[in-house]
Amino acid sequence: MTTNPAPIWHPFTQHGLDDPIPLIARGEGARLYDADGNHWIDAISSWWVTTHGHAHPRIMAAIRDQSEKLDQLIFAGWTHEPAETLAAELIRITPDPLTRVFFSDSGSTSVEVALKMALGYWTNVGQARSKILVLEHSYHGDTIGAMSVGERGVFNKPYEPLLFDVGTIPFPHVGREQASLDALEAACAQLPAAFIVEPLILGAGGMLIYPAWVLAEIRAICARHNVLFIADEVMTGWGRTGTRFACDQAGVIPDIVCLSKGLTGGALPLAVTLCIEPIFAAHLSTDRSKAFYHSSSYTANPIACAAANANLEIWRDEPVQQRIDTLAHTQAAHLSLLSHNPRVANPRRLGTIAALDIVVPDSGYLSNLAPRLIAFYRDHGVLLRPLGNTLYVMPPYCITAEDLAQVWDGITLSLDRLS
Ligand SMILES: *Cc1c(COP(=O)(O)O)cnc(C)c1O
Repeated sequence: MTTNPAPIWHPFTQHGLDDPIPLIARGEGARLYDADGNHWIDAISSWWVTTHGHAHPRIMAAIRDQSEKLDQLIFAGWTHEPAETLAAELIRITPDPLTRVFFSDSGSTSVEVALKMALGYWTNVGQARSKILVLEHSYHGDTIGAMSVGERGVFNKPYEPLLFDVGTIPFPHVGREQASLDALEAACAQLPAAFIVEPLILGAGGMLIYPAWVLAEIRAICARHNVLFIADEVMTGWGRTGTRFACDQAGVIPDIVCLSKGLTGGALPLAVTLCIEPIFAAHLSTDRSKAFYHSSSYTANPIACAAANANLEIWRDEPVQQRIDTLAHTQAAHLSLLSHNPRVANPRRLGTIAALDIVVPDSGYLSNLAPRLIAFYRDHGVLLRPLGNTLYVMPPYCITAEDLAQVWDGITLSLDRLS
């Protein structure tokens, strides 16, 4: 295995403890290769972004084509064909009330944009509403605003003094859904600006799933109190939960939607925040001070937009839904084989995502569990990255049955080793 020699400070990495870092040279489908010909199965889609597989020929071709025409363009006061096509297509495939597309470049920035849209809306319509409601255990990104609306803990402890106050609604655990809905109802009565939520499944919070009817109720409560409903579909979007968007399963139409990760099929960084017309209209004026003051240098980068357009063409022309259904079905079969393993608790699945909690009697061992498992899987040719004691498999939709079986074999072996 070739490893990293350069002075890079890696994300979410304790360089004082963790192992040497593999140097990857090439990716194809669900596999990653190093220069020596070793390969790993990417069982978490390179952190939830790769949907159709690495280096999908159609996305790579779109990137090559666009790179010969226009690489980058200021997006304030100027526009280009890939962004125009993408925005029109996004509006076409999402529910009618969503009418406007704002570009940015990561999930975190799409969330910052959503929060600023909500606050800008209330300011411009002349109402003093600025409180944001969130769901317990949520994750919305690592910038200061996104951390503020996410779960507080070891990951953001040093930055706590900079984080703003939010109202936290308890997670709707099985049997306690009504308590959660009642808490939201009470909080909405205080006239907050918005409620932001990951629809149907909280990803980084531990792959916590809640039912579609709860999401529909949440949405109805927000509507009743005129609280803007923000769906963070950064992880759930593009088929992960079994449908193109998780909100589709609950028949829910948000006021604001954040999309990133699979937007380009996972090939290039790009994000969008879609909103309903009244939010845009509140910023539309002959008064310049009412404009939406947000931009980043690479907003709507043409090459990234071209990759996203290729993703949408793949959704249009290839049997993507069929691949998702097949993967979901196979994941369910593998998960059920492990459901009686004494080391497994709460086996659960939503669409292509399968997760379980590992039962470890000694909690001191727990703190060390995830890094040890990561190393074990890496040595067995699989890229997995547990969240604490929560193990999940979230592969690209093109993974072969054989590769997926190897992933689950590795998991079974690792659980046996724990005994
Ligand atoms: C990953 C993620 C984000 C942040 O996206 P980045 O591109 O990493 O900034 C935001 N929300 C959710 C639900 C995510 O899973």
